[in-house]
Amino acid sequence: MATALQDIAEEYEALVQFLYLAPVGLVQANLDGEIAMINPLSAQLLIPLSPDGNLSNLFQVLQTVAPDLRHLVESCTAPHGMLCDGVRIPLAGSSAARPQQPTMLSLTLLKLDQQRLMAVVNDITQQVARERLLQQNEAWLNAIMVGVTEYALVRLDHGGRIHDWNASIGRITGFSEEAVVGQPFSVFYPDGGTTVDRIADRLREADESGWSLDEGWRLKADGSRFWGSAMITPLDLRNAQGPAASACVDTPQAADAAAPAYSLVIRDITDKREASESQRKAIACDHLTGIGNRRSFFEAAELEFLRGKRLPRKLSLLMLDLDHFKRVNDGHGHPAGDAVLRDFAALLTASFREVDVVCRLGGEEFAVLMPSADLAQAQAGAERLRQRAEMHAVVVDGVTIRYTVSGGIAMVDSDAADLDTLMKRADMALYAAKAEGRNRVAHWRPTDAARADTPTAQP
Ligand code: GH3
Ligand code: MG
Ligand code: MG
Repeated sequence: MATALQDIAEEYEALVQFLYLAPVGLVQANLDGEIAMINPLSAQLLIPLSPDGNLSNLFQVLQTVAPDLRHLVESCTAPHGMLCDGVRIPLAGSSAARPQQPTMLSLTLLKLDQQRLMAVVNDITQQVARERLLQQNEAWLNAIMVGVTEYALVRLDHGGRIHDWNASIGRITGFSEEAVVGQPFSVFYPDGGTTVDRIADRLREADESGWSLDEGWRLKADGSRFWGSAMITPLDLRNAQGPAASACVDTPQAADAAAPAYSLVIRDITDKREASESQRKAIACDHLTGIGNRRSFFEAAELEFLRGKRLPRKLSLLMLDLDHFKRVNDGHGHPAGDAVLRDFAALLTASFREVDVVCRLGGEEFAVLMPSADLAQAQAGAERLRQRAEMHAVVVDGVTIRYTVSGGIAMVDSDAADLDTLMKRADMALYAAKAEGRNRVAHWRPTDAARADTPTAQP
């Protein structure tokens, strides 16, 4: 008898051990969500979600991201069974500020009996990212199969320079052999459409994942543009994961630096642009102004910080806020205010490069993320925009409305290496610009931090 009890105790001990070490998050709770057991992995995944840092009730912890759980459990009349299976829970917002944090969890909820629930929680961020890549890949392959004749195939060397010319390049882009051979592949991009850093990113991405795809405006020899997709793949996949290429920089130590290392396929997909653009816009664009929305800002920033981690580079952020905007609404009405916002968004788009990420964060607040731009470059762009806004007038129902804008700039450095800090600094600079009289652009200075600590200094 004693041995049987001992066996049970040992089995139970082994089970608990398993639960604690399991590579999935496991939570046992009663039907009211009160947690009886939670293993370390699920504690780690769930603690950032808990409003009060407390892990006592599963329903409360998941309240903001999965508010229906309690209802789901209450409405289940079966004595046991699966309540939900691998439901995806997006963790909005956490990704941008802390890219290393999960952005997607999956939740499976089992009713074990009339008293107990078992929740299985997993971080599926990586899986979701892989799925997205696969979908893109599939769409791309599908598209190339359909339009086999409409592509330009180019070979690139290790630095992303065009290795040789062929008829397909001439057919799609109109460039001659002399114009492209030896040039970085950015010759196919309009001004401001890519940067040296971005070229290096693409080659690195191709090395690491076997391919790299982007879509956007491309340039023809006659200066006209077409909407194209550009896919880069390493020619020798055995070299994938190899050392990162140094884009368009001569590397004398590498004897075969000029040998073909990648293939680049450019496709003219102008006719498909409308469909893919309307889909993209629905998700990423602000409904009032048509420029990027808050979500697309954080997504782009997350990507930029990820790139910066792999290969440090310059990155500047400009935060903008229209001056005395309330007066525009009060004086001319809300629809006129909306017209000013649309007008300013158009000025913004026209004032920055294609690689700059231009977004409306909300209300009359906007942001521009400038890859590979230092403070001076960001300041010049912001000042150009400020002057344009000042010189410019919006006419609504025959009434002329003038407006101005204030801006704050901050640049990534060793003390501001994450988006949170960068945004705070740009915001502080914006406050300073407002405090100094508005209609101006300020950049972050260490003294701004001291001012922000003093409540009276804030306008
Ligand atoms: P400051 O120079 O200090 O920035 O002053 P302000 O009046 O611009 O700032 P405040 O934050 O007091 O006012 C912002 C106004 O923007 C208030 C709000 O009604 C208006 N607003 C926010 N979103 C929209 C919108 O979508 N359309 C319109 N027309 N107005 C908006
Ligand atoms: Mg504001
Ligand atoms: Mg304002």
